[in-house]
Amino acid sequence: MSEYNWCHGPNCHTYSTQSRIRGSGDNKVLRTIKIKQGRYNYSGRPELITYDDYFCNQSCLMDFIRTHLTTVIAIAPRREPLETPIKVEKTKREDYKYVWNSGESRRVPYQATRTTIKSVDNDNG
Ligand SMILES: [Zn+2]
Repeated sequence: MSEYNWCHGPNCHTYSTQSRIRGSGDNKVLRTIKIKQGRYNYSGRPELITYDDYFCNQSCLMDFIRTHLTTVIAIAPRREPLETPIKVEKTKREDYKYVWNSGESRRVPYQATRTTIKSVDNDNG
């Protein structure tokens, strides 16, 4: 694992920022940003790799995704939806709402329904 990566954003070297200027005199260029690996990794676990190690910012990340989306999707295409088993609980409760009528608001009681999604323990199934 090398210590630095070049930003993988396909347009990184075209953005006009002072941090990209290299060269001297009349031979100046905008250069792809060099990224120190683990620069935002505060976990103490250097094996954790994030996009921050390959892209100087989210703009460059999104440029990369737009350019290579079809290829990236082909790595792990989803042809069927995934499902997570749940239990849905509906409970009734008294609540109030405000109804406007002739420039006055009135507090009116009504029966509200609260929907709660509960996870299902798959280990017992
Ligand atoms: Zn970049």
